[in-house]
Amino acid sequence: MVTREDIEAAAARIDGMIRRTPMKPSPSLSELAGGPVWLKCEHHQETGAFKLRGASNAAARLGRVAGVTTASTGNHGRALAHAARQLGLPAVICVSRLVPQNKLDAIEALGAEARVIGASQDEAFEEARRLEREEGFALVPPFDHPDVIAGQGTLGLEILSQLPEAAALAIPLSGGGLLAGVAAAAKALRPDIRIVGISMERGAAMAASLAAGHPVEVEELETLADSLGGGIGLDNRLTFAMCRDLMDELVLLTEEEIAAGLRHLALEEGEVVEGAAAVGAAAILAGKLRAQGGPLVLLLSGGNIDPARHAAILGEET
Ligand SMILES: *Cc1c(COP(=O)(O)O)cnc(C)c1O
Repeated sequence: MVTREDIEAAAARIDGMIRRTPMKPSPSLSELAGGPVWLKCEHHQETGAFKLRGASNAAARLGRVAGVTTASTGNHGRALAHAARQLGLPAVICVSRLVPQNKLDAIEALGAEARVIGASQDEAFEEARRLEREEGFALVPPFDHPDVIAGQGTLGLEILSQLPEAAALAIPLSGGGLLAGVAAAAKALRPDIRIVGISMERGAAMAASLAAGHPVEVEELETLADSLGGGIGLDNRLTFAMCRDLMDELVLLTEEEIAAGLRHLALEEGEVVEGAAAVGAAAILAGKLRAQGGPLVLLLSGGNIDPARHAAILGEET
């Protein structure tokens, strides 16, 4: 398990590598939720998502390595490339041939090598493992690693320093590194705080695993909350148990509900977020989440969405 001390050490270690992001009240969502709602604007983080916290902490903890590697082309790959550059470490992000050129360009713009290998994500991951085994690289996984979880947990400390009276935190949930870290930090400081995990109905691996009582695989389906897709690993070591023990409530959302949340944040709050980060607002709008007993904080986890896609969703009125 990851402790409060691990998370406080992570906060000291990554201070200067990450931004402290703004927290602001949302009058429109407070009205709908029946109590005060605040937005933790982590989509304003450098690289556009909270993943920079975990990647920076994990990379800064490494001893002598040839470099860092991973197979994520999403927010984690971007975060690891950025953290490696700050630490002066080479980074190789392994990708399959299916990954579009603009994503390769984005990785290389951060000073990392995008190594195109194989026809699937699994083959790209195999190359990351080979770099670890044979070339002395450290493979930094996206969620199931104590240093990654501790880094994400710094967000829990930051939220409670900005709003000590917070009564509940609504956290987007995929592999569970974010929820595990934030919940460990928040519950260490405030054991009575309510932790709500939120995923999409389509292909939520942690929800299915919690229901089964052990990690299970689910079919990966296309979703507006693309950063919430993917499995938790059948050999999950940490995040499954931590989410099981620390999460008080789980909310699942339809694609239409997520789209409505994304529109509301853009039109009423002026915040452009990706689908994964819109789930808290979506849950309130859908009547699945209320503010009870004190302020409810929605964690806006990332803002990396293709502008054309964002505009198209704004145009789709329901
Ligand atoms: C990765 C990610 C999540 C989910 O984090 P986990 O640690 O996998 O649960 C949520 N939102 C965004 C924007 C992400 O990139």
